[in-house]
Amino acid sequence: MTTIAKNLAAIRATIPDPVRLLAVSKTFPAAAIRAAYGEGVRDFGESRIQEAIAKQAELTDLTDIQWHFIGHLQSNKAKKALTHFDWIHTCDHLALAQRLDRLAAELGQCPKILLQVKVRPDPDKYGWPLETLWPDLPALTQCHHLNIQGLMTILPLGLTSAETRQAFQETQAAATQIQTQFSPPLTMTELSMGMSGDYPLAVAAGATIIRVGRGIFGDRPPLAPQT
Ligand SMILES: *Cc1c(COP(=O)(O)O)cnc(C)c1O
Repeated sequence: MTTIAKNLAAIRATIPDPVRLLAVSKTFPAAAIRAAYGEGVRDFGESRIQEAIAKQAELTDLTDIQWHFIGHLQSNKAKKALTHFDWIHTCDHLALAQRLDRLAAELGQCPKILLQVKVRPDPDKYGWPLETLWPDLPALTQCHHLNIQGLMTILPLGLTSAETRQAFQETQAAATQIQTQFSPPLTMTELSMGMSGDYPLAVAAGATIIRVGRGIFGDRPPLAPQT
């Protein structure tokens, strides 16, 4: 068995079937994606659009891959994100949602969108703090061309297990509360949370999508600054 196959088998043994395992392939070459695909992975996460487009060009034969955008989305790249990805996990403010909505209408798409929330203060992360998401929800229900599916969160580094568990539980509780008040049209069935270091805690708290990079592909070199 290859390392990727072994890593995948180990992760799959610990997560329930309905949980979607998103393989975060940022910084890894198209060959690594192809290897994971060979082991049955169909969901891949990338955080830079240009990097993803280059790899997608090498993988056009793998037509049933679902591409997930998980990086910070700048407004001027919103259109490219829509044309190259099936899911956008990082819709993190209202103006971006409204821009995606307009573009989706133009493109005749109904993209799957997650609202990125910040359940703990973190100057290095984007996302709605929960208290600022609530007032934006009525306007989000008017984004008729977006298929808003749920919440996504990235936790700050350095939390204890107990703190991590609690932060995931709060995200889950927020999704339930939003579902109660705003469904339809918003659905809150997806919860994208948990990475290599903490996905078991996320799954225990109700994650439906876990985003695992190093745990599948091994260590990656540090990312160069975004240009
Ligand atoms: C890189 C990244 C991941 C994966 O992190 P690992 O520690 O490699 O599992 C998950 N989510 C986001 C948003 C990322 O940028």
